[in-house]
Amino acid sequence: MASNVIGTCMNPDFHENSHTWIIDSGATSHICCSKQLYNSYTPIHNSDVSLPNSTKVNVEGIGSIKINDDIFLHNVLYIPMFRFNLLSLLTLINNNPFRFTMESNSFLLQDLKTLRTIGTTKQQQGLLVFEFPKRNFNSDCISNCNSVTYETWHKRLGHIPISVYKLIANKIKLSSIDSTYHCSTCNIAKQNRLPFPNPNKFSPSCFDLIHADIWGPFKQPTYDGFRYFLTLVDDKSRFTWIYMLQNKSDCIKNIPQIFAYVENQFQTKIKSFRSDNVRELHFKDFFLEKGVLHQFLCVERPKQNSVVERKHLHILNIARTLMFQSNVPIKIWGDYVKTVVFIMNRTPSPILNHISPYEILYNKVPNYSDFRTFGTLCYASTLLSGRHKFSPRAIAAVFIGYPHGYKGYKLFDLTTHQTFISKDVKFYEHIFPFQNSNSSDRGHGVFNDQITPNLNHPATFDDSDPIQPTHTQNQF
Ligand SMILES: [Zn+2]
Repeated sequence: MASNVIGTCMNPDFHENSHTWIIDSGATSHICCSKQLYNSYTPIHNSDVSLPNSTKVNVEGIGSIKINDDIFLHNVLYIPMFRFNLLSLLTLINNNPFRFTMESNSFLLQDLKTLRTIGTTKQQQGLLVFEFPKRNFNSDCISNCNSVTYETWHKRLGHIPISVYKLIANKIKLSSIDSTYHCSTCNIAKQNRLPFPNPNKFSPSCFDLIHADIWGPFKQPTYDGFRYFLTLVDDKSRFTWIYMLQNKSDCIKNIPQIFAYVENQFQTKIKSFRSDNVRELHFKDFFLEKGVLHQFLCVERPKQNSVVERKHLHILNIARTLMFQSNVPIKIWGDYVKTVVFIMNRTPSPILNHISPYEILYNKVPNYSDFRTFGTLCYASTLLSGRHKFSPRAIAAVFIGYPHGYKGYKLFDLTTHQTFISKDVKFYEHIFPFQNSNSSDRGHGVFNDQITPNLNHPATFDDSDPIQPTHTQNQF
């Protein structure tokens, strides 16, 4: 098949256009003939590929192409002399949770787990021409994501390093990097970066293994009375969920919730659950009933739980930067950590092959166009009902997060000091209303030396020595 495909690829009589993708079972790389299709592109020189018919063609560049929300191709070779584009079936199947099957007279590309159809093929001149659902670029992102400055994106994304910014910019059209920008917050708030874990130790599939731990108590409860949070991390994707807790024992309702959520939303089941010996995470009967293997940490080998320990350190590290940046009162700390987790789930990582936990779990690029800078001034429109001619048209507020399950922003009303959710918001991302307040709970040292650490983990939260917990005796 490959030689036929290649032959036709170079045939000027083939009547297709540069948006056509042909499935090639023999090709080892994706090939594109239109530079306009690339989301990121790097020219290369003096490079060619050998075709099955022994000819060599010049490769002018390499890059990434987003075909739709399901398919994001990496390392696509740019060969302008081709008449259309080649989709390497092997590369596509090996790098994505897809399957390729024949049904009646057509071939289907489906999601491996849900069997949702991602694309179909039609036969044309003996070739399999791929037909994708309508190209679904996020139009908001194209118009909005490169209209704000690099500095604003740096802050929206939780003060990510340039290397990580480039990974996101490979997927969407972000503002170009301003190498002269100096971020004082990064220098003051961030501690040393953690060493990367061994990428070979990841589970083969999402939800094979969930890591769990409880952080807290924090000496200052949140405005709604929480002092702990439960952290759950999927081993394969490193996607993270947190639940705020008033007491450690409250997690008795959260663990069954996450199991039900996974079964309902992802049509799969959590197979193993790893935690330390904290009593509140013992769900013996529930796990027996579900057939879940509960892996306990050995007292002698506390680093087994390093995934969730590292996650806590990372969350606190970024939360500190948001706090230095905004100086929003510490009673909002629950929203700090929830915002950090939202950002982290959507941030590409070298240990995840340069993609984000969100992309691994949902198999699509996150929507970055709704990101805003934590702690900035904004105005939420007041409801039309109940407003009279002289009523204010907007409420002055501070942005404090992305509420789960809502298409809107979580805001802190600067007049009433109440939180609320609004989707009709105008942002002023260069103004931080709390920045110059003399709040006694200013972020210095918060999430660092003022915390009362996890009762089972009386370790320092100094990133240079991240994981030295002392565990209680195994109670089983
Ligand atoms: Zn920064």
